[in-house]
Amino acid sequence: MSGIMRNNSPADGGAEDIDGAHARGNADEDRLDTPRVTATRNYDAGTMESLVHETLALVGENPGREGLLRTPHRVAKAYEFLTQGYTMDIETLLNNAIFEERYDEMVIVKDIDFFSLCEHHMLPFFGKAHIAYIPNGKIVGLSKLPRIVDMFARRLQVQERMTQQIAETIQRHLQPQGVAVVTEASHMCMMMRGVEKQNSSTTASAMLGVFKHQMETRNEFMNLIGRRLH
Ligand SMILES: [Zn+2]
Repeated sequence: MSGIMRNNSPADGGAEDIDGAHARGNADEDRLDTPRVTATRNYDAGTMESLVHETLALVGENPGREGLLRTPHRVAKAYEFLTQGYTMDIETLLNNAIFEERYDEMVIVKDIDFFSLCEHHMLPFFGKAHIAYIPNGKIVGLSKLPRIVDMFARRLQVQERMTQQIAETIQRHLQPQGVAVVTEASHMCMMMRGVEKQNSSTTASAMLGVFKHQMETRNEFMNLIGRRLH
């Protein structure tokens, strides 16, 4: 099961979503995209700097004024960092941190901070990710789960796809009995443009294996993270 739920949004908020970018109905459509999962790139900071210089002029600024002189350089650096997920390789990231273990209870890591950029506006969305899995002979070093989150957050994303990619990656590499991922996020593109109430947050979930098929297991996870999916 995978689904999306909004918190604190108007009871019937569909009409408020001006461009529909984050509307509930688009979740499946977005998932059909196949962004690069791992790739190398030649990040051309020089070209990025000249584009930012041009952007400054286009928004009505004077790129030559003192406060902005190094802004193209800083922005180019910032985007290189914020999109480094494209260059991260899962095998390198896991680096033999998968261990044989008989443990078969739920492993859960809550409140993993993430920061991403929405692919519709290139504005930040950020929040917390909660991950659980039930091992099937293999466990992973716990510090690797936040790194998997970063790998998919530091790209242009939609929250639903990011959530699904995190879950599928854990499923593929650990082959556990199941994986559950819930993300809660605030989207600057909605908050700054007044599309949604400013305190609204968006929740997305991806449930695989036993979390998909066993309601008890799913409920246990949702209780442990203090959330309810309706
Ligand atoms: Zn957006």
